[in-house]
Amino acid sequence: MSAEDENTTPTNFIRNIIQSDLDSGKHHAVQTRFPPEPNGYLHIGHAKSICLNFGVAEDFRGKCNLRFDDTNPEKEDDEYVNAIIEDVRWLNFEWDNLCYSSDYFQQLYDYAIALIKQGKAYVDSLSADEIREYRGTLTEAGKESPDRNRSIEENLDLFARMRAGEFEDGKYLLRAKIDMASPNINMRDPALYRIKKAHHQRTGDDWPIYPMYDYTHCISDAIENITHSLCTLEFEDHRPLYDWVLDQVRTDSHPQQIEFARLQLKYTITSKRKLNQLVTDKHVSGWDDPRMPTISGMRRRGYTPASVRDFCDRIGVTKKDSFIEMAVLENSVREDLNEHAVRVMGVLNPLKVTIENYPEGQVEGLTAKNHPQKEEMGTREISFSKTIYIERDDFLEDAPKKFFRLSVGREVRLRYAYYITCTDFVKDENGEVIELICRYDPETRGGSSPDGRKIKGTIHWVSAGHAVDASVNLYDRLFTHPNPAGCDDFSEHLNPESLTVLTRCKLEACLAEARTGIHYQFERTGYFVRDSETDSLTFNRTVTLRDTWAKIDKQNQ
Ligand code: ATP
Ligand code: MG
Repeated sequence: MSAEDENTTPTNFIRNIIQSDLDSGKHHAVQTRFPPEPNGYLHIGHAKSICLNFGVAEDFRGKCNLRFDDTNPEKEDDEYVNAIIEDVRWLNFEWDNLCYSSDYFQQLYDYAIALIKQGKAYVDSLSADEIREYRGTLTEAGKESPDRNRSIEENLDLFARMRAGEFEDGKYLLRAKIDMASPNINMRDPALYRIKKAHHQRTGDDWPIYPMYDYTHCISDAIENITHSLCTLEFEDHRPLYDWVLDQVRTDSHPQQIEFARLQLKYTITSKRKLNQLVTDKHVSGWDDPRMPTISGMRRRGYTPASVRDFCDRIGVTKKDSFIEMAVLENSVREDLNEHAVRVMGVLNPLKVTIENYPEGQVEGLTAKNHPQKEEMGTREISFSKTIYIERDDFLEDAPKKFFRLSVGREVRLRYAYYITCTDFVKDENGEVIELICRYDPETRGGSSPDGRKIKGTIHWVSAGHAVDASVNLYDRLFTHPNPAGCDDFSEHLNPESLTVLTRCKLEACLAEARTGIHYQFERTGYFVRDSETDSLTFNRTVTLRDTWAKIDKQNQ
């Protein structure tokens, strides 16, 4: 069965490899895994890996494990484990098995003993500095450690004592005995085990030694019968080691490592370590700050699982490193929200309007559509009265000819209501316009006029007596530099205007009941979602209605 029979996920070189492995009978079923280290929250780059690993398993009717690569106890935490589980579920993927590398600590240890017995691993007493010095460089071969020819008996004894906790951190390493002259530095007797007397979140104080990533990863894959071990390009040079370890320990299965390009997004960072620094240094309010490219931040900002998955489909999977425009991500969510978001009206920067010829004390209910194209989403009633709010920007005292909104003498359509014409305005002592005086045309109820006169501008509004007060967070790019991760100090390139808080917004009454997770389009101003972490009525803007950056980027080119 080919993936393309089933759905529309675009194919890619990895899917092609899998397809031919199934066709040739090399494998009868696909087994993948997504293997995060629980040392931070997942970001949009991880979403690419999740969509790939879980996606191919789904499409080829195989299986995918969620595996925590938990071999660095000092950096890892249950908080991260739980956050990662929540994020993968939110993206709507279900794993076959939930695994932990730490489940394999005993097997990994036993394999290490087998390696020592084969003369393929030795205990080294060089210090970290010496090891670096002996390693050589890209152009120079390394030097063999004086301990390289330690006897098997002595290695077994020392390794057993490392395991028993007899030595301090750093005193010994278990190293693979491969080739100190290999052109691939990863093959120059890489470390397999280090002494680290650290408490592990799952195994407690059972282990004073912890296996290294390169040793752990391939064996964990083999234990889980992974068929295709998909990872990012920086591991390409580690593949010979991946294969070497599996060849020596002779596991039943030998997964195939295949590398693909990491996702890099312009104007943000996709590295857990650097995102951690933003949190620790309090440049953001937390991992789920809506400006963060973390899954939790994007969720809080109003991204939908479908939009993230769609984005991952759009960018595809290749072997070529490249930077993706933020606009691609924003377009994915914009398209999804355009389909599904409920339309409402919200005034972000209110300006009071008094309709002088509208009867004092009168309130009428008008019908508004919840979605302009989707009848099935229904309608709602909105209240209209003598005093309303409109957007401050929708009035100009000295308006140019092509300004199709309000100015004295000009007429606009109030969405779903009436045509109004501005007759006057009131200023405060500082010269700021604080109120407009308008007249309405009672013949234009619902927004069209019987005489067919053309009105170019339609603006949104709320009834002053019915609106609810709210705060709104508007976001901009977190960085002003397209590749902050490539700069010496990325914190120097933080955008000081990445967050604007508007505290005096006036929103349509129904928004008082807004629940987190319901997506709204505030007509003309963008897509919004209620903030999940604030009790008072606060909305986060997910994205604007149009890509305002495309123009700016063009100007900068
Ligand atoms: P980070 O540098 O953000 O911590 P990582 O690779 O160290 O990333 P892991 O938790 O080890 O983080 O990653 C889990 C999986 O996600 C790995 O298979 C890794 O290759 C993949 N991954 C991480 N970042 C990206 C990215 N930007 N694009 C695609 N895949 C990624
Ligand atoms: Mg990693």
